[in-house]
Amino acid sequence: QVKNKKKEEDERKITWNDIGGYEDVKKEIREYIEFPMKNKELAKTYGLRPPKGVLLFGPPGCGKTLMMRALAGEAKLNFIYVNVSDIMSKWYGESEARLKELFANARKNSPCILFFDEIDTIGVRRETHSGDSVTPRLLSLMLSEIDGLHSDDGVIIVGSTNVPQTLDKALLRAGRFDKLIFIGPPNKQARLEILKVHCSGKPLAEDVDLTKVADATERYSGADLANICQEVARKVAVEALESKSERKITMKDFMEIIQRYKPSITLQ
Ligand code: ATP
Repeated sequence: QVKNKKKEEDERKITWNDIGGYEDVKKEIREYIEFPMKNKELAKTYGLRPPKGVLLFGPPGCGKTLMMRALAGEAKLNFIYVNVSDIMSKWYGESEARLKELFANARKNSPCILFFDEIDTIGVRRETHSGDSVTPRLLSLMLSEIDGLHSDDGVIIVGSTNVPQTLDKALLRAGRFDKLIFIGPPNKQARLEILKVHCSGKPLAEDVDLTKVADATERYSGADLANICQEVARKVAVEALESKSERKITMKDFMEIIQRYKPSITLQ
């Protein structure tokens, strides 16, 4: 019953090639997590263990979830997606039972990644609570469930947040979310690579220069860029339908759509 965020992406296997840019982040994830999970014997020889918990932080839409789906696809791990706000709101009154169930389910489905999106909703510093008794209880339960996991359970807990500074320090202690990975806004090279991923297979006119599109999209997140590619294709397809003549996507189409959609990355 775990709610899945993006159905179409769930249904097919995501690979590292679906992620544009972020070579250093991919390398880190491969070395720290994929390598010891895939090469158990070698990892044992050298005493390497994958981290128990990984905290991904950075602005929204920059590939935190996508990165973990690719890891799951490449390392043949099951992927369980949990939106923590759902545990808190939709499952009101039964949140604790649901949280326990999620950990039990993860053990049953190991090797797996148990992904908690918006972990800050549960992991907010305890002293900042005002009279809400559910959140601290859930946080304590989560801490004890994480402590109860053993490395041979084959479960990696991943937390994702846009506001790491609000997290309760207890979550970041050794043996919990002890590997921190920052996934920031895409730089120009990453934007170019993301555009290439999302334009692949689309009919582009000769004049389209994705480097120039990358130049014009500072502060656009990966999700914003995926949206630009989708919308530019939609615009041209609708025009083709109306005029009953197909044509390729031009640079002018890109610039028009970029004007229409503002970047989501702000400086706060
Ligand atoms: P949030 O913090 O809001 O949960 P997130 O960081 O987990 O966001 P994702 O859900 O991974 O972001 O990304 C949203 C979508 O943006 C992806 O499904 C994908 O289509 C696109 N995207 C983001 N980053 C990249 C990237 N580096 N390469 C290709 N596509 C990307």
